[in-house]
Amino acid sequence: MEETQIKELKTLLSTPKKIVIIPHKNPDGDAIGSCLGLYHYLTQYKHDLSIVAPNEYPEFLKWMPGESNIIKYEYQTELASQKIKEAELVFTLDFNSLSRIDDVANALESFKGDYIMIDHHQAPDDYARFMYSDTSMSSTCEMVYNFIDFFEDTNKITAEIASCLYAGIMTDTGSFRFPSTTSNTHRIIANLIDKGAENSYIHNAIFDSNSIDKLHLLGCALKNLVALPAYNTVYITLSREELQQYNYKKGDTEGFVNYGLSLQGVKFAVIFIESVQEDIVKISLRSKGNFSVNEFSRSHFQGGGHNNAAGGKSDLSLTETTKYFESVLKDYKSQLQ
Ligand code: 5GP
Ligand code: MN
Repeated sequence: MEETQIKELKTLLSTPKKIVIIPHKNPDGDAIGSCLGLYHYLTQYKHDLSIVAPNEYPEFLKWMPGESNIIKYEYQTELASQKIKEAELVFTLDFNSLSRIDDVANALESFKGDYIMIDHHQAPDDYARFMYSDTSMSSTCEMVYNFIDFFEDTNKITAEIASCLYAGIMTDTGSFRFPSTTSNTHRIIANLIDKGAENSYIHNAIFDSNSIDKLHLLGCALKNLVALPAYNTVYITLSREELQQYNYKKGDTEGFVNYGLSLQGVKFAVIFIESVQEDIVKISLRSKGNFSVNEFSRSHFQGGGHNNAAGGKSDLSLTETTKYFESVLKDYKSQLQ
């Protein structure tokens, strides 16, 4: 973030404001962690704060301090719209385009105040007056830590803030193993532990809270895995019927796609999940090395994200989607060698 922007924002935030903080749709650990971390930080300046999430998020994120204050637009549309109507400032966290917040974007149409974007996705849209966008960052939570640091306020980081930020950095870095994890990420993590983030408790709360149905669904997903060795690619499918058979709940398929990447030699892994609510197939894409799943998803699946992790969707049926996937994959053979 530029020095002049930091100064300007500091002045703006020096008197209490009505502020709304928004994560992307289907928020993950980084989205919820960064919103709550920022929320607890800004509370110390007596702002009137609300977090408006477009929709529901997984149970395993609900241990985070302050979580019960999050307003879910899909269930609490009126309250959320009211907060947006009153807002003077809107922070948008962990996304790069207002199209990623669905109906909340409509509610924001009449918003005349300033947007502040904090995000690490590629190709950010130009809607924010204050923009902290850095694709080299491991996570938005790492950026919220830096944001607090820009204001020379790391002494204001409480155990609550530290726990939320730790959780988001941990989830977005695949527990500190993706290449986006730098020595600086680890220094921040060390500071967060010093401030009171209980690392072992957080890992346990997020990763060891599986239900038997979820593990059975994972078994089903792994059985459905298709390997395409000529392309160093694997994909997994889950149909609506399979999801229903194992009483699918939001978040149950989180991390499944990474099992594909664990196969020796695999550079590209994809999971296609038929949506239970909408008439679409949701897609998660992961890669190792230089193959950009961000570009692949932008070109073929109406999505995007990062070089090694992206999301997307398809309006075709599940079978047609995988057929289409296999057909376009042919053009990437040399890139995947
Ligand atoms: P996931 O596969 O876990 O849903 O998403 C992987 C990464 O890509 C996350 O950082 C997520 O925010 C991002 N992502 C998912 N869907 C989209 C999308 O439609 N557009 C963009 N730009 N990023 C996405
Ligand atoms: Mn993120």
